[in-house]
Amino acid sequence: MEKIIREGLRELGVPATEEQIGTLAAYGARLLQANETTNLTAIRDAAGAARLHFLDSAALLGLADFSGHPAVADVGSGAGFPGVPLRILRPDIRLTCVDSVGKKMDFVRQSCAALGLEDVTCLWARAEEMRDERESFDVVVSRAVAELHLLAELCLPLVKVGGLFLAMKKDDCDQEAARADFAIRTLGGRARRICRYTVPGTDTVHAVVVVEKVKPTPPQYPRRWAQITKKPLLG
Ligand code: SAM
Repeated sequence: MEKIIREGLRELGVPATEEQIGTLAAYGARLLQANETTNLTAIRDAAGAARLHFLDSAALLGLADFSGHPAVADVGSGAGFPGVPLRILRPDIRLTCVDSVGKKMDFVRQSCAALGLEDVTCLWARAEEMRDERESFDVVVSRAVAELHLLAELCLPLVKVGGLFLAMKKDDCDQEAARADFAIRTLGGRARRICRYTVPGTDTVHAVVVVEKVKPTPPQYPRRWAQITKKPLLG
């Protein structure tokens, strides 16, 4: 796993020390081991995990500005992606992982503690119920959680004005992004661009929708999940 991660990070232009590569691989080994008894990921082989979890997550570092000791939230983090690889590669990131499934946050919490990443905060919570953290993150990242017009209501209320929401998507996300435009604007965001990259060692092209928070989210948002899905912000 270390060799694939090392070469892939080089291809992405993301600098990493041998210690950081070792920590990424150790987190991966824990993930694959835990996955034998707890369902954490559909990817069960080391090479696949190296590429589609660690390198895919690391690609974000080349696409957006994570400078200045940012507070970063990973919404629907699952087993810690993309948040944990970002934190390993950029120790100045103040990371909060959020997931509505407790056993996933238990895995991330225990694995981070075992690998010396004690400052990572793991919240077992639904993102739309995080009232205390409203507009408190410089960057909110999210991968594979919900369609963008719904996801925006989970994530944008958590972003500070002037901050970023980075939604990791499949290559063919242009229609999904266009459909989310009204929700993004309603929630105080402005869709800036869609960045694409090839996951190193694969033919897989992924995309990141980059959204700026340009004004505060109106106080009536986020709503409860049932409301978000029943009356989505579609204009
Ligand atoms: N981001 C991880 C990844 O890419 O490997 C996990 C993706 S998994 C398909 C989606 C995750 O989002 C699940 O772990 C689920 O529990 C979480 N999730 C869904 N809705 C959520 C919500 N409203 N608040 C917090 N977590 C949520």
